[in-house]
Amino acid sequence: MKALQITAWKSAPQLRDVAEPDPGPGQVVIRVAGAGACHSDLHLLHDFEPGMMPWNPPFTLGHENAGWVHALGDGVSGFDIGEPVAVYGPWGCGRCKRCQVGMENYCERAAEQPAAGGGLGYDGGMAEFMLVPAARLLVSLGDLDPVAAAPLTDAALTPYHAIKRSLPRLTPGATAVAIGIGGLGHMGVQLLRALCAARIIAVDTRAEALQLALDSGADHAVVSGDSAAEEISELTKGVGADVVLDFVGVEATLALAASVARPLSDITVVGISDASYPFGFFTVPYEASMATTYWGSRPELMEVLELARLGRIQTEVHRFPLVEAPQVYERLAAGEFTGRAVITPN
Ligand code: NAD
Ligand code: ZN
Ligand code: ZN
Repeated sequence: MKALQITAWKSAPQLRDVAEPDPGPGQVVIRVAGAGACHSDLHLLHDFEPGMMPWNPPFTLGHENAGWVHALGDGVSGFDIGEPVAVYGPWGCGRCKRCQVGMENYCERAAEQPAAGGGLGYDGGMAEFMLVPAARLLVSLGDLDPVAAAPLTDAALTPYHAIKRSLPRLTPGATAVAIGIGGLGHMGVQLLRALCAARIIAVDTRAEALQLALDSGADHAVVSGDSAAEEISELTKGVGADVVLDFVGVEATLALAASVARPLSDITVVGISDASYPFGFFTVPYEASMATTYWGSRPELMEVLELARLGRIQTEVHRFPLVEAPQVYERLAAGEFTGRAVITPN
């Protein structure tokens, strides 16, 4: 079968012929319906170096996956062949306390695992078939379209987890600022709208991303740049934001996030870069907390799927065949997409 693989760090992805996977005991093979192209893949392709991770290429890209159950290994029950499923993306040890409650994103033995997940060291979903090492990593989709559902496993799950930790701050009258309205950000805005009554201010550099933010339920759209902090201050009558979600994470957005946060706020950095912000007594408002988040839990994925089933959130999806995946990453890097580009190998 064809698979889009990263074959060496700092190189372009390659379409290669690889063997179809066979499920061993306890494992499941899915026929891939959709594999989302996440900006993190661009970091994998452009920024990672030997030694940065305990795992290395080659492996198939695609860590945001959904499909249909294709083959069950010995001992697997509870799934029918052809059943649509989402793949829970962060693969932990499955046995520690965090994994046992479905929080494999924060597995206690993460450092001992050979890789982080499908598309992150193990073969991912940018291929006709994908091997999932344990049935516990699958969640049934019911009547959800598995192509549109693929981004729910990361582009929605990651912001959902980031928002949920701050829900007590998101009271009516509060303000949430979302910076970077791409794959994650457009779901982040919808999730804020679905989960709370706070005012939502979206920030991006691109007009089309800001339009998608407004269509997704943002109250205000602010162009990222020198005047953004002042505009947000005016919109909040000088009070500032209760929650800032930074889906970019570069120096400029970290600084913007800290400058618009009010005392007793959460600044949550979801975007990945090597930038840093000097945390200290005088650099953030009193009792503002700064945290990064990584992905979300399996129970949270089930909650996200429920929101999609209820029609409260919808992924804005652009579909592409597997052969076009290399160009999709070039276009993602050039900022050409709104919402999420999803590869559909079957
Ligand atoms: P994306 O490319 O789809 O969207 C990024 C958006 O940010 C674009 O709309 C772009 O115009 C905007 N942007 C870029 N620079 C900006 C700036 N200076 N100010 C405001 N907006 C700006 O990316 P994505 O797939 O949504 O991923 C977003 C980030 O989140 C990436 O860094 C990715 O690696 C990271 N990520 C983190 C996790 C996690 O668990 N922490 C999970 C998935 C993705
Ligand atoms: Zn991702
Ligand atoms: Zn674990």
